[in-house]
Amino acid sequence: MPQFICPVGTCQTENELHADVCVRCGIPLQGYKRLKFYPSHLFNTGLAKARDGQFRQARDFFAAVVLWYPMDVEARNALAMACFAQGDNNEAYQQWSIVLQQIPTNFTALHGLETLAKAQHDSPAEKTEGQIKTLPANQVQQKKKSSVMKNGRKKKIISLYTLIGWG
Ligand SMILES: [Zn+2]
Repeated sequence: MPQFICPVGTCQTENELHADVCVRCGIPLQGYKRLKFYPSHLFNTGLAKARDGQFRQARDFFAAVVLWYPMDVEARNALAMACFAQGDNNEAYQQWSIVLQQIPTNFTALHGLETLAKAQHDSPAEKTEGQIKTLPANQVQQKKKSSVMKNGRKKKIISLYTLIGWG
């Protein structure tokens, strides 16, 4: 049975997931739960849209998560990938650049910028489709090793890699 830990620092009591108030300290839990789970809901909805090939909507959902949580690197990477999948390389570039300002070693963002640079070099006037799968196998290996994700999203974001041709 999943539990919801009371967010009050001195309490931290485990509650039933559907509890309205903490059994120990009585604090209302619904608002905290919404804050805790809503970004994941948006994120997962974005992934579902991406899976259906609806990258425009996917992009909106990921953008919403990023708006709420500017430090959510995973969501920002997903946003950049959705932009990239849509052919909006400028926005993808912006988003991956922000990720690297936050975490200079983030592999997804490094890989993304590298892919953009390569696409631009190979065919400056065209979209990047068809360029993506030409990456050396060792880079793909490296990417998989370094994609450490949290909140049970790992599998799903890897499926997003697959969607845009990185998997
Ligand atoms: Zn409590």
